[in-house]
Amino acid sequence: MPDIPGPLALYIHIPFCRKKCSYCDFFSLAGASGDLIARTLDSTIRELSFMIDRFHPDFDTVYVGGGTPSSVSREVFSAFMTALASALPRTPREFTVEANPETVDGWFLDSIAQAGARRISLGIQTLRDDVLKTVGRLGNRAATMAALDLIRGRWKGDLSVDLIAGFPGQSGKVLTEDLDTVLGYSPGHVSLYSLTVEEGTPLEKSVRNGSIRMPDGDEQDEVWLTGREFLMARGYVQYEVSNFALPGKECRHNRHYWDLDPYIGIGPGGVSTLPGITHGPEGFFPQTGAARDRTGTTAETGDSGALGALGAVRIVNTSNVERFCSDENFGMLFEAIQPADFMFEHFMMGLRTREGLGRDRYRSRFGSEPESYNPATVEKWKRKGMVESTPDALRMTDSGFLFLNEFLVELLPD
Ligand code: SF4
Repeated sequence: MPDIPGPLALYIHIPFCRKKCSYCDFFSLAGASGDLIARTLDSTIRELSFMIDRFHPDFDTVYVGGGTPSSVSREVFSAFMTALASALPRTPREFTVEANPETVDGWFLDSIAQAGARRISLGIQTLRDDVLKTVGRLGNRAATMAALDLIRGRWKGDLSVDLIAGFPGQSGKVLTEDLDTVLGYSPGHVSLYSLTVEEGTPLEKSVRNGSIRMPDGDEQDEVWLTGREFLMARGYVQYEVSNFALPGKECRHNRHYWDLDPYIGIGPGGVSTLPGITHGPEGFFPQTGAARDRTGTTAETGDSGALGALGAVRIVNTSNVERFCSDENFGMLFEAIQPADFMFEHFMMGLRTREGLGRDRYRSRFGSEPESYNPATVEKWKRKGMVESTPDALRMTDSGFLFLNEFLVELLPD
């Protein structure tokens, strides 16, 4: 199997939380037994070795996320971080661990620092106890303030914080008060997401039966825009739809996703995207013998395992944790991403960033300019002043940024 060219991002999914927040549709399990958590993390390290053996990756960034990595017991987490540190071929340029405030303590900070982490991403979401309660999220303002104090006193690395706009009952004033308090701890990076009511979540049920009233789209946008203005006035640059950073503090790891540069995701539900790989599973996993395209159709590979001209290969791990632990291939599904689909993914991801969809990368992957994907639509949006072509990129303008989804819908060929 060929080495994957260039630096990669490594994402490690720890799919365990103490309690499920009512709005969450991420893959995470609440209340798993200590034994299952230990076996899963053990298998995750085995999967890392499996990937390293096959691809000899050069990891530029490592991100341990979830779920709630900081909710894992000390003994298991410590063994996991030690194994991770020794499995990594070299010290990555950026190494982040996610944590929730109520599970951060001095031991946790020391243990991730010892394993090489230099960036902590703290899921604050809101400092309002009543709002946390409404959405069934653990933690409270006191615990968050204690975690921030501890981090500021003890943590030598970077700090990123996540907040959410558009919670029920949250005004722009409430959000900016929270931001003001949190910015007092000088995070280099702030993610400000909009709350969405995802189908099948307890929050959706509460909204449907009328027990929770969500702000409408305009109210939500107003709160989020108030937050954006507040951050920008304090020197944070919006470099992506939901992400703000002080100069030099942008998240390197996410950049890999937005640029669709190769990344490997391990752990249950982990997803890897490997552009430019042109060999099917026989080269990877002799047991599988066939590849699925995006429609789910099974495409047999030839003797050599070659799939012909591919956009990329995507590997999706099973979300069944027991299967992940027992299957020798971690329940991986192998998808062949066709070039046309992969092109559209470049628009979806690249246009999220302020820099836009980079011309050089697109040209080197597809042999054409981004504008040629759908010239009529691009031209129309350029005339509206919402999209612009620069020598380096195709990108959304300041006013166009807010209409990215509408642009993407129009961009898709009929
Ligand atoms: S802590 Fe995060 S991953 Fe866990 S349930 Fe809440 S939102 Fe989901």
